[in-house]
Amino acid sequence: MTPYILVIEDEDALATLLQYNLQKEGYEVVISSDGEDGLMQVDERLPDLVVLDWMLPKVSGIEVCRRLRSRAETRNLPIIMLTARGEESDRVRGLDTGADDYLTKPFSMTELVARIRAVLRRIRPGLAEDRVAHGDIVIDRVAHRVKRGGREVHLGPTEFRLLDYLMQHPGRVFSREQLLDAVWGSDVYVEARTVDVHVGRLRKALNTGAERDPIRTVRSAGYSLDLED
Ligand code: CA
Repeated sequence: MTPYILVIEDEDALATLLQYNLQKEGYEVVISSDGEDGLMQVDERLPDLVVLDWMLPKVSGIEVCRRLRSRAETRNLPIIMLTARGEESDRVRGLDTGADDYLTKPFSMTELVARIRAVLRRIRPGLAEDRVAHGDIVIDRVAHRVKRGGREVHLGPTEFRLLDYLMQHPGRVFSREQLLDAVWGSDVYVEARTVDVHVGRLRKALNTGAERDPIRTVRSAGYSLDLED
């Protein structure tokens, strides 16, 4: 699954350059040009990582970072901060607000891409791996195959993406809307009930009856995948 990166940067030329280079690396990229809009974009669809400029119109980068860190659903969202100023005090302040990493402008795209990879690998190992395992379920993203306890599990493309997404965040509860955005995309109109249908199919494919159902239905909240409690 393509990691989704939100770039909050008000310098058009730099934003375009970032978008171009990150897309070339295989990331899905959305650009936001001020702090207020950036926070709205995060609310709309949770990114896998945020590249955040320090100096932004409306709401500053520091404030965006603080707000994201103060909310449960974005507390662990990876943030890489960009700044034009290189003073050590700023650097410390940047990390104090909870950014995961920090780059001083001007920086090379190679450097940024390396930092993004490193942060994603550290925080969401599942995103960078070709093979992801949780409990007795193993996904091979390259071969597009799923096994449970050594048994081959046959999934349709939507069920595969759904399982892939749930396995990146074991134990976390997702609403139907969040799953729709993440698996179907935020610009596709699909009814929330569709999620139930595909979760049903995924369950049926994963469970032969003898095993524990890995998908938990949380009443009025949504679904989560959890085999480890
Ligand atoms: Ca700026």
